[in-house]
Amino acid sequence: MKAPAPAPPVATVLAFDFDGTLHDPAGQPPVPAGFFELIQQLCREHAMAWGINTGRSLPFIVEGFAESRFPILPDWVVAREREIYFRSPRGRWLPHDTWNRTCAQQIHGLFKRLRKLLATIRHVVEESTGAEWLAMDGEPAGIIARTEEEMQWIIGQVQTLTRDEPLLGWQRNSIYLRFGHRDFQKGSSLAAVARHYASGPANCFAMGDSHNDMEMLDPRHAQMVACPGNALAEVKHHVTAVGGYVAQAGYGAGVIEAIRHFFPTQSNIT
Ligand SMILES: [Mg+2]
Repeated sequence: MKAPAPAPPVATVLAFDFDGTLHDPAGQPPVPAGFFELIQQLCREHAMAWGINTGRSLPFIVEGFAESRFPILPDWVVAREREIYFRSPRGRWLPHDTWNRTCAQQIHGLFKRLRKLLATIRHVVEESTGAEWLAMDGEPAGIIARTEEEMQWIIGQVQTLTRDEPLLGWQRNSIYLRFGHRDFQKGSSLAAVARHYASGPANCFAMGDSHNDMEMLDPRHAQMVACPGNALAEVKHHVTAVGGYVAQAGYGAGVIEAIRHFFPTQSNIT
């Protein structure tokens, strides 16, 4: 596929994590209608590009948009915390070819070099826990633990075993862990999206609830950061420490609250 044409300059880039931030599986609806109304109003009043920065694969997040009945689609998506796609005027998802190809090559090369180390980690996980090891096309190494505590134990082992391999990164979201490359995560991906729109950290807003959001909730990538009221305590602590906004409300209502905090509008949407 061809790389998307350079986008016209956009002053502000908004990045939302999906599961646990914008999307509440128990919500009716899972993403509040007020969010879309507010985003549409903001986009009318300011030059903005909004997107979803998620651990889901592209097909799975597209499914999420349909299930949650998104009345409008985001301008961009980061899938698997590292693959960038831009929405075409016809609603197709066009890959950021340069970024995605570099990312895939770097990960392939790294995992090839670290084959033995990953096999050791797999052995420890399978010998000592009931966690499941995942290896498939596009997802070379991942773990699903049975509990948060089990994942915490696994993280401790991984930290010890990978001490001498700074390029090997991992993204944790609850009981899920995905191995990857240190340089390709939600933060660096958001920075690449911002560059596409000729924007930068001072004009980036990011909001997330979990461990795998920490890199994008970093002032090096986004200087307006927030988390919903249901975020992990660690995330709330981090957001507070960097001068961000911790919403009182959870999930989508918290997202609306945070947007209103950073981008006051004339709106009377409640
Ligand atoms: Mg989340």
